[in-house]
Amino acid sequence: MKPPFEFGQVVFIARASSHDRQEIPCPVCYGKRRVTVILGNDEQVSIECEYCSHGCNPASGRASEWKPWSSVVETTVTGIKLEHGKWCIECAAYVGSDAEIFTTREAAEEARIVMFAAAIERAQACNHSMKYNGRKRLSWHVGYHRAAVRRAQHDLEYHGRKVTDLAKGIEA
Ligand SMILES: [Zn+2]
Repeated sequence: MKPPFEFGQVVFIARASSHDRQEIPCPVCYGKRRVTVILGNDEQVSIECEYCSHGCNPASGRASEWKPWSSVVETTVTGIKLEHGKWCIECAAYVGSDAEIFTTREAAEEARIVMFAAAIERAQACNHSMKYNGRKRLSWHVGYHRAAVRRAQHDLEYHGRKVTDLAKGIEA
């Protein structure tokens, strides 16, 4: 089996990814850090934006989304290996399959365009589901915090009564 490239040959690598993280204004609260949720009875509740708060950190008004990127890199072949019937090519800092390595910049550019289109689609699908799930989660949090308020009110009334009863005992 003849190797697809030679040692020291100048080649062009097409690369694309949908996983370049970039910071954007929060797509749910638009940087306001709070959102208003309208409940089924038309009551409006203002709550902290859950989408841009992480763990114990308060809402930041900033979020991150996946940005696709692609490039063509000119490099030279520094190693050629045959692994399980497939050529594995080493080029300076890159090791990968020969499917992404080309002898001309034009061929690499053509492959980059196809790979970039796929990366854009993956990034959009990922960003869409992140945004959708973030919004969906808000209604759950309204329910959760309301239940906590009801519990706290109940406790407050209970302990308030206890204090009053104790005070009556002291007076008597
Ligand atoms: Zn937010």
